[in-house]
Amino acid sequence: MSRSARSLMIIAASWGLALAPGSLLAQRPTNIHVVTDSVTAGVYLLGVTSDQGPVLAQVTVFSTGAGALLIDTHAGQAAPLLQATLDGLGLPPITTAINTHWHPDHNNGNAAWRAKGVTVVAHENTRALLAHPQVATGLTGPGTEFRAPAVAPEGLPDLTFSDSLSLYVGEEMVRVFHPGPSHTGGDAVVWIPSRGVLHLGDLYWPGSFPSIDTHNGGTAVGLAHAIGEILKWLPEDATVLSGHGPSTDKKALELYHDMITETVDGVLEMSQAGKTDAQIVEGLDSDWSTWASPLVPTAQWVKLIRASQQK
Ligand SMILES: [Zn+2]
Repeated sequence: MSRSARSLMIIAASWGLALAPGSLLAQRPTNIHVVTDSVTAGVYLLGVTSDQGPVLAQVTVFSTGAGALLIDTHAGQAAPLLQATLDGLGLPPITTAINTHWHPDHNNGNAAWRAKGVTVVAHENTRALLAHPQVATGLTGPGTEFRAPAVAPEGLPDLTFSDSLSLYVGEEMVRVFHPGPSHTGGDAVVWIPSRGVLHLGDLYWPGSFPSIDTHNGGTAVGLAHAIGEILKWLPEDATVLSGHGPSTDKKALELYHDMITETVDGVLEMSQAGKTDAQIVEGLDSDWSTWASPLVPTAQWVKLIRASQQK
């Protein structure tokens, strides 16, 4: 299967599976294996997949030869498979893992990696959210409610930051920063200057309306602002990665940013003009229906924008 076809499959199958903790066990997928995409020198996307399709969020690896780092940790059950894949690639041991945010498909493997001596880094709000039970609605599809229990101490990040921090993998710097309220209230964005690689976690859903956790600090207005700020300094030839989508470029991110700002403005204008929700959805669908997905159909995107505007 071509890389782009497989990537689309990852996006499609991540919908609905994206957040169920322990779904590797709960859904009993068979023939679980890891599919590796080489993005650029030393940067790999590891997708855990099964006969039923991809399982949870993908894991990104950055290796310099002198050391290696993970972005997101998947589920604990996948750690041996991921380790075998890393060994097969001939990479040095992982020393650090970054959690892009609190949703379990991005950090359920923390305890397994910490047990190997890996330091897990996250924004301070993410650690605080993980340490207590959480509820979020609409994250696994319109009308769904998602409940996450408190994470045990061994699965919590053991290094946090508030604004930004710099890590070194060998001699190469990795910049981790908080973009402000966007997908959640505790996102971490990763920039690897030496490779021109930006990882936006779940701020970025290539080609789709975004999922936003408005119950836990996320806002559509904040997301638009965060990506606009990043686009100001992002080099033209940057590679742009995310938690669930294929490797893309700055052009694709600009299109996504245009979509968010224009739909946010459009919904605000239509609300002020006294349109009903149904009229607003219809108005948006006339121009933006190709961005609708099973996870975030147009009506859900309107709901997320309105929730952001009410804050
Ligand atoms: Zn998420």
